[in-house]
Amino acid sequence: MFQHTTIDNQTVPLPLGKVVCVGRNYAEHAKELGNEVPDAPILFIKPATSVVSLEAGFSIPQDQGSVHHEAEIALLIGQDASNISTQDAWQYISHVSVALDLTLRDVQSQLKAKSHPWEIAKAFDGACPLGKWVAKQQLSNLDNIAIELHKNGEQKQKGDSTQMITAIPELIAYMSNIFTLKAGDVILTGTPAGVGPLKKGDSLLAKLDGQYEFPSKVI
Ligand code: ZN
Repeated sequence: MFQHTTIDNQTVPLPLGKVVCVGRNYAEHAKELGNEVPDAPILFIKPATSVVSLEAGFSIPQDQGSVHHEAEIALLIGQDASNISTQDAWQYISHVSVALDLTLRDVQSQLKAKSHPWEIAKAFDGACPLGKWVAKQQLSNLDNIAIELHKNGEQKQKGDSTQMITAIPELIAYMSNIFTLKAGDVILTGTPAGVGPLKKGDSLLAKLDGQYEFPSKVI
């Protein structure tokens, strides 16, 4: 089982749960894929079996068309949350990290064209490389969390949480009013613009809050 760890390599003692993801939470990203900006958050779930370690390197499906990186701010739920308010939301989040919402883009496009759910494009084994956890208290400003992804030395994605269409506290409150978030669940908060294809051998570097680095590789 994948272990949650802090930057000090201490294990966070939580069972890994579901990964709740948000689609189109940055306007520039919605635009780059030709999608409309939604009125309410678009949610989908990756199972715990999709999670692998980001820093250990990860493999991607080789025979299902294009596999895109979507670098996202990841949140770890630290205590069960049901019907919580926006004001209380951060109390339920214990750690922050970076995740890649790997997406079979060709498969997803075909599913979207048929108005089918896009689960199989998003929820396969290994579809969620997840970085080491950083305790939220160690971030410089919870209202403005920066994220970057570099591929083969070139910056591909850059954004921060002030650009989100639905902000983190509103997302957590919204989700918790639909289903219970359990301690050990992970939230992926949407991707900034700049998504693109990965291939075997790509070297990656994700950055969080301008100070935490997550090197990775497609193996
Ligand atoms: Zn995503």
